[in-house]
Amino acid sequence: MANKEKVLITGGAGFLGSHLCDRFLAEGYHVIAMDNLLTGSMDNIEHLMGRSDFEFYHCDVSKFVHVPGELKYILHFASPASPIDYLKMPIQTLKVGSLGTHNLLGLAKAKNARILVASTSEIYGDPMVHPQKEDYWGNVNPVGPRGVYDEAKRFQEAMTMAYHTFHGVETRIVRIFNTYGPRMRLNDGRALPAFISQALRGEDLTVFGDGSQTRSFCYVSDLVDGIYRLLLSDHPQPVNVGNPQEITIKQFAEEIIKLTGTDQKIVYKPLPKDDPKQRRPDITKAQEVLGWEPKVERSDGLKVTLEYFKEKILKGQQAPA
Ligand code: NAD
Ligand code: UDP
Repeated sequence: MANKEKVLITGGAGFLGSHLCDRFLAEGYHVIAMDNLLTGSMDNIEHLMGRSDFEFYHCDVSKFVHVPGELKYILHFASPASPIDYLKMPIQTLKVGSLGTHNLLGLAKAKNARILVASTSEIYGDPMVHPQKEDYWGNVNPVGPRGVYDEAKRFQEAMTMAYHTFHGVETRIVRIFNTYGPRMRLNDGRALPAFISQALRGEDLTVFGDGSQTRSFCYVSDLVDGIYRLLLSDHPQPVNVGNPQEITIKQFAEEIIKLTGTDQKIVYKPLPKDDPKQRRPDITKAQEVLGWEPKVERSDGLKVTLEYFKEKILKGQQAPA
């Protein structure tokens, strides 16, 4: 047990971070999770507490990060990720993408550890190229509402590449496209939790704009597998990981209504500023470099996710006031 290699996962109590904790523990690593619980929850890692190969530290990685002893890998996943979250917490979002990333790159250098940072399809902004390939530079409004997230992530990529080229740190950059699954927060404002919780509560589904904007949704187990393969690869350039099956948001809302078996209606609300009109990953690079492609059909992934949300809502109703 004492000889297990150590992996630090920041944002470990969040949606993706907690699934990564599960995966690395299953692969036989000792996992150190760090989180300040800004948007994450201890519920996501409750099942891991008390294990001798798991440690949790409640801390803000935008401040100084200290880990005693050796570290094999670092996965930097701390950051608000839902548009509603980063609009509410613009400064924390900018800090964790910039100062937090700098701290973790410094730690990687000091420990001679390999680091993978969570970047995003948002670095392409409202894309003028479709589908999005890694060599597209993007169309981002730096001073728009989404700029706090997009620019923090663009800075994160630049800083990560600089540590790679200047300091020789082993770095990996994953550009994650919309991912869904159990452990998303019911009220995080992203389309899927919003639609499912509205349908289950008997409320109308709020589609922003006319719903013609597109997204491509990836199930969490597929994403985690892509990330795992990228970390172990020798590829320091950014790699898109996502599911290329594209759908309009209106179709997506209709799918959720059908899935939940409710007869809710769609109501249209104003489209948020700078909301990307289309988004679909070109995953040729992930296929060629990682031998990876998504396996889970949306219909299957949505069923599992729906069960999770049903249970959450039920528990919420049973919780004391
Ligand atoms: P999440 O909000 O569930 O998880 C983020 C976690 O980071 C939370 O637990 C939060 O408390 C923690 N955190 C935030 N600031 C912190 C800080 N300063 N110090 C320590 N912990 C901090 O979001 P998620 O969907 O799991 O996203 C995780 C990462 O993946 C983010 O970096 C996000 O940008 C990236 N990403 C996610 C998606 C997606 O579809 N889920 C898409 C693209 C990129
Ligand atoms: N959206 C919507 N209704 C909602 C929440 C989101 O129509 O209640 C739309 C949003 O405007 C965007 C898409 O769904 O076009 C995906 O939004 P999400 O917040 O999930 O992530 P994004 O891809 O925009 O970061």
